Amino acid sequence: MIGNAGLKTLHVFSIDVEDWYQSSFDHGADISDVCVNNTRKVLGVLGQHGVKGTFFMQGMVASKFPDLVREIDSLGHEVQSHGYSHRPINSMTPAEFKAELTKTSRLIEDVTGKPVTGFRAPDFSIDSGTFWAFDVMRECGILYDSSIFPLKTRRYGVSGFAKGYSVINTPSGTVDELPVSVLELNWAGRLRFPVGGGGYFRLLPLWFLNYCVERLDEEALPFVIYCHPYEFNPEELRMIMRRIPLTRRLHQGLGRGNFQKKVSHLLSTRAFGTMSSVLAGLKNNRGKKACA
Ligand SMILES: [Zn+2]
Repeated sequence: MIGNAGLKTLHVFSIDVEDWYQSSFDHGADISDVCVNNTRKVLGVLGQHGVKGTFFMQGMVASKFPDLVREIDSLGHEVQSHGYSHRPINSMTPAEFKAELTKTSRLIEDVTGKPVTGFRAPDFSIDSGTFWAFDVMRECGILYDSSIFPLKTRRYGVSGFAKGYSVINTPSGTVDELPVSVLELNWAGRLRFPVGGGGYFRLLPLWFLNYCVERLDEEALPFVIYCHPYEFNPEELRMIMRRIPLTRRLHQGLGRGNFQKKVSHLLSTRAFGTMSSVLAGLKNNRGKKACA
């Protein structure tokens, strides 16, 4: 089921299921059940609005909490892959990446009984130096990806990459790419702003997010939201007693208080669905245009 079906454009709600401390601070740390509780908050919000979303599940989380995978799947959401360890792709060899993809897909598929066909890289770590990753994905049965950040930032991104749906050719076959949303404004040339998630989404006022969705609607582009379970829990940083630099705490904590309110507003006023359902619509439209 798709919330608010019948409205103009179908947008994407996607979430990267990971444990903040392990994924962002210490890759050697254990996964805690805080991440399970936070994910259940997200499931509750989606349930309130009758929206199905795409959950990019980190393999370490699926391994420790298979019941969480089962719960997400049983509620009708899509469970796809966010790699295993949350190490960035540009720190891995193709063989290491393949091993992570295979392991994570197996963990999820063993629980859901459905093939894993979608992927999002940790920290959007596919850039012009790691395009080999698409070939590895296709070899491992991945048919669509949402790892490209179509804007170059200090940490990641590919400048000038297509904002909407595109198809990437690899020796093993094609991979559909649907990046997270950026807003393009014609101020002093074409400037792009990241609006689909992360710190940007947390800090932008709601009126500006509504403006972004309208602008994307005009271009027939879906608004692709990405978020994390911990963003639904403003208390989490206070609960983590381990040593984390103050600047990191402040950066990660900014805007968490209003995050759920913003997401709820968007889910209640627009039509959202899974990445697979939105991609199917985009491919269908492209097919019709090609035939016209
Ligand atoms: Zn992540």
